[in-house]
Parts: sequence; structure tokens; C-alpha cells
Amino acid sequence: MSDIQIVDAPAGVEGSGFFATSLDKAIGLARSNSLWPLPFATSCCGIEFMATMGSHYDLSRFGAERLSFSPRQADLLMVMGTISKKMAPVLRQVYLQMAEPRWVMAVGACASSGGIFDTYSVLQGIDEVIPVDVYVPGCPPRPEAIIDGFMGIQKLVQTETLRRREEPKYQALLAKYGIQ
Ligand code: SF4
Repeated sequence: MSDIQIVDAPAGVEGSGFFATSLDKAIGLARSNSLWPLPFATSCCGIEFMATMGSHYDLSRFGAERLSFSPRQADLLMVMGTISKKMAPVLRQVYLQMAEPRWVMAVGACASSGGIFDTYSVLQGIDEVIPVDVYVPGCPPRPEAIIDGFMGIQKLVQTETLRRREEPKYQALLAKYGIQ
């Protein structure tokens, strides 16, 4: 038997129903289903991202079909591929150009930790220069893993407060990266 019970409206109540929630939750739900990702792809993991956007895996189903190649119109930075130390300031600049609220996904081993490129010229994880919200493991991660990471971001967006920017914890994180 279903747990849901349909009951007649109490006397004096007419028209369509209503539900109550907090503004944080309503906006979080809307935001999480309308993210505009900026794909920062430098190598092989980017190919898996193309598959993720294709019709078979179709990230559009999660409301993220509108990719943005301008940081000012993006709220999710998806970093995919090997990031050289020369590229690091560019990545950081792109992150800084994004308006709040913004989230970051490190997709694949290289973006998360340098991967197999433990060498003088490669950044050993993008979290050396910018804060990261979700790490996706794999070399490369399959589209399912990228979608799983994306859903992790959605969960974060749904549960965090609208005043994240003012929270001491977030302020401390930005200060750690020298971001005002
Ligand atoms: Fe290429 Fe593997 Fe690095 Fe992804 S994690 S960019 S697949 S080497």
C-alpha cells in the first residue's frame, strides 16, 4: 500500500495546493538543475566529457546543456586534463573571473593529483591553486563517473546556504588561496 494519502481539502480551502519550504532550498533546487558548466579541458579527459555531453549519456538531462566558454556566464568550472604549471595562473584567472556562487570539479587523476605526470612541469592537482568541491577519480573517468561527480555538485548546491560567501568557513577557504 502506498504511503501517500490523498485527502479532501479542508473546508474553506480551494484551488491548487501549496507546499512550504525554505528559500534556500527552493533556490538551491533551481540552481542545481540549471548549472552552466565551463569545460576547461586540456587533454584526454576532455574526450570523455564530449561523450558525457553526447546523446547517449546526455548531461542535458540534468539541466546542464548550456555550456559556457566565458567564465562570467558560468557557475561550474569542470577541469579535465593535465594542467601544466605554466597553465596554472590561467586556470586561476578563469576561476577568479567567475561570479559567485561558483563550484569546481576536478575531473580525472591529472586534474585531481597530477596523475601519472609526477614531474617538474605539471601541477600536482588543481587544488594547489583553486578550491575544489568534487574530485572525480579515473584515468580517464568514464562518463558515468563524470555524471556521478556532477550529481555530487548538485547535492552540494541543494544543501548549502545562499549566504555561503559570508560563512567563516568559506571565507577561511578563500583566504587560504589568497582570494578576497
Ligand atoms: Fe589523460 Fe588520464 Fe590525465 Fe585524464 S587522467 S587527462 S585520461 S592521463
